[in-house]
Order: sequence, then C-alpha cells, then structure tokens
Amino acid sequence: MGKASDAGVNLQDIMAARRRIAPYVVRTPTVLAKGLKERVGAEVALKLDSLQHTGSFKLRGATNRMLRLSPAEREAGVVACSTGNHGRAVAEAARRLGIPAKITLSELVPENKLAGIRAHGAETIIHGRSQDEAFEEAHRLVREEGMTLIDTFDHPDVIAGQGTAGLELLEDMPDIDTLLVPLSGGGLMAGIAVAAKAANPNIRVIGISMERGPAMIESLRAGKPVQVEEQSSLADSLGGGIGLDNRWSFPLVRALGDDFILLSEDEIAAGMTHLYWHEQLVAEGASAVGIGALLSGKVKPRDGGTIATVVSGCNVDMATFTRVVAGDAY
Ligand SMILES: *Cc1c(COP(=O)(O)O)cnc(C)c1O
Repeated sequence: MGKASDAGVNLQDIMAARRRIAPYVVRTPTVLAKGLKERVGAEVALKLDSLQHTGSFKLRGATNRMLRLSPAEREAGVVACSTGNHGRAVAEAARRLGIPAKITLSELVPENKLAGIRAHGAETIIHGRSQDEAFEEAHRLVREEGMTLIDTFDHPDVIAGQGTAGLELLEDMPDIDTLLVPLSGGGLMAGIAVAAKAANPNIRVIGISMERGPAMIESLRAGKPVQVEEQSSLADSLGGGIGLDNRWSFPLVRALGDDFILLSEDEIAAGMTHLYWHEQLVAEGASAVGIGALLSGKVKPRDGGTIATVVSGCNVDMATFTRVVAGDAY
C-alpha cells in the first residue's frame, strides 16, 4: 500500500485546510445513532455534514481550494460546472470570499436546481443541451477569460478540504474502527481516509456507491479510470464519472480503501427511511448509503467495534423524499 504522502495529500495538508476554512464552514457534530445498535450489533456514529452550509460537505473542499488561489487568480474569478451540491458550494464559497463565480449549466437543468445555485449569488450560464457542452463552456472561460476551474474532487486542495470532516470525526470519536464513506469521484473518501489512517492505520475505510453507474468502483476493477453509463438513482449526488485523466482521487482511493460496496435502489431507500424515522434526519440518497449498507448486512461490524458513517448531504428533491419515507413507489 502506498503512503498517502506520496500521492499528494497528507495529514498536514488537511490540518492546514482546517485552520484555513474554519471561519467559513460549520464544525459539524457527530452523534450516535439511536436506532441502529440493536439491529446492527454495534454502535454507529453519524457525522452530520448534512448540517453544513449549502447542505453538503462540498463547501469544505471548494472553500479550501479558493483560499489557496493567488490574488490575480481570485480577481479573474472561478468557474464550475455542476447542477448539484458542488455548484452550490462553489457559489457560496465565492460569495463569502468576494470572488466572481460563474456556474455553467446545460439547458436541461431543472428550474429548482438553477434557483438553488442563484440563491448563493453566482452567475449561471446556460450553454448547450448536455453536461458535456456545459463543461466545454467552462473550459472556454478558463482559456479565454483566465478563470480557474474549481474541480469537484480531483484536486489536492479539494481533497484536503473534504478531509477536514475526517479530522473532526476522529476527534469526536477516536475509537472508531470502521468508516463508511459515500463514494463518487472519491474526494471525500480520499480526504477522510488520509485523516483516519493517520490517526489509526487499522481503521477500515469502506467506500459505498450505487449499483447504477458506480464510476470509481468500475475504474478500480479495470485498474484505470473508465467511463460508465450515467443512470438515474436515488443517490443522484453519486452519479457522474471520475475523469479519464484522473490524477489524485483515484490513486488515493485505490491505496487507502479497504473495501467497496454497491447498493440497490431499495437499499438506499431503506437508509433514507431509517434516517428519517429513527434519527429524525433529512438525508439525500447519497448520504444514506452507509446506513443502507449496514441495514442490508453488506457491512458486518467487527467485534465490539464502533462504526461511523458520513451523512454527507441533505439536498433532496422533496417529492421523491416524501414518497421514499412514506414507503411508496419512488
Ligand atoms: C459529492 C457528494 C458525495 C460524493 O463525494 P465524492 O468526493 O465525489 O466522492 C457524497 N455525498 C454527497 C451528498 C455529495 O454531494
């Protein structure tokens, strides 16, 4: 197993990120799940980054990345291409730091997502009829207007920022022995794994994705970044590719991940339903996969060990959420 420091992000980077972003992010709480010990046979801790500003941990990485820009780069502004939590986070971090921001989106973006991003003050640019075309527009802004693209996961400053959630978690619960992390592009898992393994190399770090289009897990199987077909899922924040030219998150996840698990839509729904009815938490599908994995029996606790999972976000389409927690077809 390679040392994390060889791969571009180490504990010092995450500790520095924590000091840097502290004025801008919530130091979120870790709570013990009330309704899981009996069913799972172990204590389960929930790191509630669903309580983060903008409703997801993505504010951590985006803020750290922007605070590391030079004055000239800040003045030229930042650009991102995301309809979801990353778009909101970049918009909010830029607003707080006084950096001009443009979020490029395709014509297909739903009105409520557009409103979610505009509410944080960023300029939205509607371009093309697909995510690829919207991305091309972002790259044009980088080339022609000197803006900086804020990557969703594949940048050391973003990974270090996401890792601050791991530092906080280990501080609150030093005796954790298994960590369940929602996994898409791998910024969250990479950062948290670096922090957790520095505290205790024996902690198991397990990445969890949905069966419907798990780009990182398919890439790990192939031994290199591969493209997967995008499919709709309750865990919509886990969709999308990892980038065929992935440089940082793929090697870190490969080096530090101990196991990887895929969940069906029903298992994700069970996680959301549990969090709502037993823990009084509104969680989006992506953030309920740790609980879904425990309830499905796909993750087994070690004897006497404490398990923790990151409840990573709460931005969920309310109509879907209502159907899921009511036990209706979704
Ligand atoms: C982005 C996101 C993830 C996955 O993070 P990666 O760094 O892409 O692996 C998980 N949960 C939520 C709520 C997210 O927004």
